[in-house]
Amino acid sequence: MIRARPTVAVVDLDAIRHNLGILKPEDVTDASPSDPTLNPRRAQVMAVVKANGYGHGAVPVARAALEAGVEWLGVALVEEGIELRDAGIGSRILVLTEFPPGSEKEALQAGLTPSLYSQDGLHRLAEAAGSVGTTVSVHLKIDTGMHRVGLDPGQAQAFVSQLIDSGLDLEGVWTHLAVADERWDAFTQVQLDRFSSVLAGLETAGMKPRIVHAANSAATMALPHTHLDLVRIGIAMYGLSPGPDLAGQASALRPALSWRSAVSMAKRVGAGEGVSYGLRYAPERDSTIATIPVGYADGYSRLLSNRAEVIIRGRRYPVAGTVTMDQIMVDCGDDVVEPGDEVVLIGRQGDAEVTADELARWSGTINYEVVCRISARVPREYVG
Ligand SMILES: *Cc1c(COP(=O)(O)O)cnc(C)c1O
Repeated sequence: MIRARPTVAVVDLDAIRHNLGILKPEDVTDASPSDPTLNPRRAQVMAVVKANGYGHGAVPVARAALEAGVEWLGVALVEEGIELRDAGIGSRILVLTEFPPGSEKEALQAGLTPSLYSQDGLHRLAEAAGSVGTTVSVHLKIDTGMHRVGLDPGQAQAFVSQLIDSGLDLEGVWTHLAVADERWDAFTQVQLDRFSSVLAGLETAGMKPRIVHAANSAATMALPHTHLDLVRIGIAMYGLSPGPDLAGQASALRPALSWRSAVSMAKRVGAGEGVSYGLRYAPERDSTIATIPVGYADGYSRLLSNRAEVIIRGRRYPVAGTVTMDQIMVDCGDDVVEPGDEVVLIGRQGDAEVTADELARWSGTINYEVVCRISARVPREYVG
């Protein structure tokens, strides 16, 4: 297909492998754990590639992560798991929510591993498992306090006996932390204690799972006692910080994505002339206004109007006026800027850098959303 427009997201797969190398948990870190049910063992790694690999491209990221030695992939949707299978990826894949009604057979035939946390989900899965002819291993999700999805801790034992009676195999039990990115929040310990009680109960009842997991990127980086048997790494693998409290530690990571374009037009605009829809920007002096072919339809949020900066010829320039669907303008003052000059929306050029964190701040969101919302219209290009 023709690529006429210069706007592109460049993804550095070396950075993905490098970041996983840094993040991979050490071999047993704590020889004398205070809580034997949360005994740190050598944790496996799950690379979380949901939402098209946080906008980076699920299949290339998954391949790079597997090259870096991760044992598992994690996705949010059955569709995302099947996309990886269709690309020939054979590794274990955990779907982090229950298979939606009607998708069970196809998901099982694709060899996706289900999460489970409801009676209805259990019945539907047990029925579908009967027709695929092999034992289906599941990961039970416990809601220890985030209250998104998950089984109440008090119901875990009864649920697991029912699960086993239905012919399913309890491979994993997991939970998700709500505030792990906030340096040390006491609620993380509340969640871990609830999780630990569930695991102790199951063990006593002779229903011990083989893999227990709780850590996301933040917990992987900051809370080694949460590593357990497996860590689920998303944002940090892409080289971005899970939150402001971890920015220092995240500086050892390499952002994998840069977002580039080129000037399509540059013109002098007189002092006081309005620029873009609504005329919400007017240069104070005669100024060179450069136009760049990227807009909110590409995921360059309209909230960045009159706020963001881009890099051209190694210098940062402010977005001038409203971000339109397909184009933005920037004010380059009296500097020489010409059509074809490279523009960096996220990433480095010379000594200058614009980060996903800056775009997040300017548009009132988090770096996760900045990279996820880069739309399908922007081609992804791979290096490394
Ligand atoms: C998205 C997700 C992760 C990864 O979170 P990061 O903060 O990106 O590391 C881990 N576990 C679950 C259940 C998730 O939904």
